[in-house]
Amino acid sequence: MKFIILGCGSSMGVPRPDGFFGNCDPNNKKNYRTRCSALIKTTDENILIDTSPDLRQQLLRHKIKKINKVLFSHMHGDQTHGINDLRSFYINSRKQIDVYADKFTSIHLKHSFSYIFKSYSKEYPATLKLNKLPKYLLTKNKNKNVRIKSIVVKHGKVKSNCFIIDKKLAYISDVSKIYSKDYKYFKNLKYLIIDCLWYNFHPSHFNLETSLDVIKQFKPKKAILTNLSPVLDYKALKQILPKNVIPAHDGLSINL
Ligand SMILES: [Zn+2]
Repeated sequence: MKFIILGCGSSMGVPRPDGFFGNCDPNNKKNYRTRCSALIKTTDENILIDTSPDLRQQLLRHKIKKINKVLFSHMHGDQTHGINDLRSFYINSRKQIDVYADKFTSIHLKHSFSYIFKSYSKEYPATLKLNKLPKYLLTKNKNKNVRIKSIVVKHGKVKSNCFIIDKKLAYISDVSKIYSKDYKYFKNLKYLIIDCLWYNFHPSHFNLETSLDVIKQFKPKKAILTNLSPVLDYKALKQILPKNVIPAHDGLSINL
């Protein structure tokens, strides 16, 4: 089973659409960051987390030929606006793809992308089926059950969902607070992939200081910082991180 970070950039990516690289060295490939999406690849299924606006490019880069399910963390544009690119997988299978979202995200998706969930004509049928995000989603890897647990976290003024795969890896791309009642699920994981926007305070995201505090508290074997803005140059950031913490880069793949 694999967990692939398809994109690790903040909402406008690095470089931004206007070419702005901030502190990032354009000569380092690891500083080219598409918007946050991830893929859980088991022997049986490809499960996508979020549909970033860069989804097409990400799927092509990894030669992804099927998508079985999609989990949405929250409703922001950098997590949802690539949703239309799932259409090609519907055309291949002629079966609506199951997508899972919480109540608020579902309302947003139905409002913004109604044509995707409702058949308007024979030529343009609904391509996705919207389901309520469950507390646990089951998939299989080599005939073994794999549990994907979703946990609600605070993300500024909205709620976001983090996903814990097989009690081994937690993925939290957008978070400003983890509720103390859920701390037990995050302790001593193998991998913690966590939001780290930049150095300064931000009301909707962890910054370097808060991310490192959380890593210290939960003690994963390895932590990976994601949702990185142009403020954070890969090499400069890596040099100041503790040994068990690394910055993410697009395409980073983890064997589980
Ligand atoms: Zn967000």
